[in-house]
Amino acid sequence: MIKETTRKKGRADANPSKAKPLIGVFGITGCAGCQLSIIFNEDDILDLIDLVDLRAFPFIKEVNPEEHFDICIIEGLVADKGDLERIKKLRGNSKMVVSLGACACTGCVPAYRQFTLKENYEHLLYQKMEEIQDVKPTPIDAHIKVDYYIPGCPPDKKQILAFIKGAVAGRIPKPYDSPVCIECRQNGNACLLDVGKPCLGPITAGGCDAVCINGGFECWGCRGPTKDMHLDLMIDILRAKGFDDRFIQDRMRTFVGLKLPMLEKVMKKTSEVNVTFKGMPAQRGLP
Ligand code: SF4
Ligand code: SF4
Ligand code: SF4
Repeated sequence: MIKETTRKKGRADANPSKAKPLIGVFGITGCAGCQLSIIFNEDDILDLIDLVDLRAFPFIKEVNPEEHFDICIIEGLVADKGDLERIKKLRGNSKMVVSLGACACTGCVPAYRQFTLKENYEHLLYQKMEEIQDVKPTPIDAHIKVDYYIPGCPPDKKQILAFIKGAVAGRIPKPYDSPVCIECRQNGNACLLDVGKPCLGPITAGGCDAVCINGGFECWGCRGPTKDMHLDLMIDILRAKGFDDRFIQDRMRTFVGLKLPMLEKVMKKTSEVNVTFKGMPAQRGLP
């Protein structure tokens, strides 16, 4: 925990913070993994504090006003009424709002419950607490304007740093929108689809250096779909690899279901095409 007094007596005195951008980092419903990603920049974190006025970061600071931010970075999704009130207040008090991580950007795994019956997960819920009033789990941009997205579960720590430094310098980095496959191939990996693993790299925005595939795991799509994804082709490829529609739909919905509202329709349409031209579309574009 950064003690307010320590920080004021130390580095902040050498660099008066008045002209520095005011930054707030907040978490709503989430696991705090995204906020940890910021802290994991341990080699650069003190330089960062020299660059900005870290006005609020309740995860590590004692005193945390919730107003007057140049940039407000929010982790987590909206899952209860308190979250909703909080993000509305933060939006009103910030020039720029950043969604940090998959929960904030897409709803991530916690939003998956929108696609299943309550009886399937009810037994996993915490005991009902009065102060928690459930709302439909949704990403932040379902409720307030978001100016920038830093995707991933968790997001890449260097990308967070690059964004903050870029924003301070007036050069906000462009979002990475090429598929994970690009970095995967650059890293010399063999394609996991070839060995029958259901990799979503072709439709997922990279920028993570294909970290999962480097470690032998398929991409689950945590950084969200690319803008020009070829969803029907991806479905065809997975079908051709022997995965059934239930599996494909569940896998695609795990991290980004709420950002794929067209999924069911595309699956139905492509399955009708597959019935008409039995076997053929499933072979298109195999890697
Ligand atoms: S995106 Fe992942 S790491 Fe971040 S809060 Fe959600 S579950 Fe945790
Ligand atoms: S499908 Fe997956 S394993 Fe194959 S190249 Fe793309 S990211 Fe890599
Ligand atoms: S490889 Fe896929 S699942 Fe893994 S971090 Fe990158 S986008 Fe997320």
